[in-house]
Amino acid sequence: MRRKAKAVVCPRCGKATQRPTAHEQVCLADPQNVARWRAEMDDGDGMAISRTEWQSQPRSVSDDYLSRSYGGWDNAARALGLKPFRKGAPAIGLNAPLSEAERHACARRAALETDYHLSYRREAAHEASLD
Ligand SMILES: [Zn+2]
Repeated sequence: MRRKAKAVVCPRCGKATQRPTAHEQVCLADPQNVARWRAEMDDGDGMAISRTEWQSQPRSVSDDYLSRSYGGWDNAARALGLKPFRKGAPAIGLNAPLSEAERHACARRAALETDYHLSYRREAAHEASLD
């Protein structure tokens, strides 16, 4: 019978491991790992990238490992201090898309403040088509 290698207890997380060197790279309690994963997962704006984007290039750890370890991709993002990934997250402030009423008001304003405005003619034609 083959003897198993003696388990070593990780000083950071207390997990017993037979491959301490490999464990160091994925230990959840190692601040260096957490900082590296956070940097890799940050979309540059404090929001996590999608899991698909994570998979699109070589990473220091697999998306499966992070998801399994933290109980889901969104939870991994939260644990790393990021907002969970949301497709088409609403733009806010000046980047927010105009509502229909705002678009209409802007078109009117532009039409009133210039002698001639192409979109004003389109607006007028559109309004006429509604009558
Ligand atoms: Zn550990």
